[in-house]
Amino acid sequence: MLDDFSSLGVHSDFISGLDALGIQKPTPIQKEAIPMLLQDGGDLIAQAQTGTGKTAAFGIPLLTKVDPTSPLIQGLIMAPTRELAKQISKALFRFTKYCQDKTFIEVATGGDKIDLQTQRLSRPTHILVATPGRLMDLIKKGLVLDAVKFLVLDEADEMLSMGFQAELDQIFKLTAKREATWLFSATFQKKLHLLTQHHMSSQAHRLKVDPTQIVNRNIDHYYAICAREEKDTFIINYLNKQASSRGLIFCRTRAGSIRMSEILAEAGFSVAVIHGDLSQRDRDKAMRGFRKERSQFLIATDVAARGIDISGLSFIIQHQLPDAMQYYTHRSGRTGRAGKRGVSITLIEPEERRQIKKLEESLGLNFTLA
Ligand code: ADP
Ligand code: MG
Repeated sequence: MLDDFSSLGVHSDFISGLDALGIQKPTPIQKEAIPMLLQDGGDLIAQAQTGTGKTAAFGIPLLTKVDPTSPLIQGLIMAPTRELAKQISKALFRFTKYCQDKTFIEVATGGDKIDLQTQRLSRPTHILVATPGRLMDLIKKGLVLDAVKFLVLDEADEMLSMGFQAELDQIFKLTAKREATWLFSATFQKKLHLLTQHHMSSQAHRLKVDPTQIVNRNIDHYYAICAREEKDTFIINYLNKQASSRGLIFCRTRAGSIRMSEILAEAGFSVAVIHGDLSQRDRDKAMRGFRKERSQFLIATDVAARGIDISGLSFIIQHQLPDAMQYYTHRSGRTGRAGKRGVSITLIEPEERRQIKKLEESLGLNFTLA
């Protein structure tokens, strides 16, 4: 029972769309969330491991529930980064490939021309995917969200960590007539409680994961002890052994990611870099190039740590430990997606050994010395 999308109540047009993406058998979060949201549709706070198909878990019910004969925005999806918002809108668009009535999905994120976005949004739009800052700018320019029935927050906790509390409060207020709010993330921090208490039903459904199970089990965790000045050599040696395997290298700072990309380009590797100081054009170019396999390795700051789905990444390297524990889950979660296995390697300095122990204990992991 419930072993295919049709028994979850998913319409055959979506099943064809999913099938074209190689999505045939629902993941556990999809099995739980999809029937719940299709039938009852009430508030939901859903936690599931990275790479387990949360986008379809909220996307399919949302697409099912909007009325394509109305020209108004009925679904609003918020995401913390521009690249993630774009990825979500593209995924939803692909799910609708075989639908008879076209659902119009728009994306509005910072760094792109706001006038163009306003112009697009003046045409019938059913689902809007946006980042909080740009959505607020569009609201100031007259965007109306009165008809929003479903508000989805993907990577909800991250939007709070980025300091978007006031913006989210405002967005909740401006969509006060909505029927439901759905929150999805692999991690939920305490500060989210206030927001959910204020703006969501106390009867909200909750799907939870045990804290020691939150890191996707398809990832093998390694650490290497390197003095700071040895890290570049370690990474170069590792990449040299990769043949055609692709991977992502996380650096803590923008300057660090630029330095790393220069060193690796100099060493002859095919690399792209993404960080917050780049123009949006260059960010898009880096992501597109990497997705299309024009570059083998992507060097990134934590701007690429949340939600980004690039198929077939065999490894991620963390040049330093992340500042916050939940980032370990998200950075490593860029590999080991959609049931595939992946490797996460963290470079630490000798005195940071204790941090590895801490990660092992709090996340229920076993690290191996690389
Ligand atoms: P999450 O948001 O949980 O991190 P995504 O929604 O980004 O995960 O999905 C991760 C990848 O898995 C995507 O490439 C997606 O197409 C794929 N995927 C989603 N659901 C399934 C499924 N049921 N079977 C196989 N692959 C899936
Ligand atoms: Mg996601």
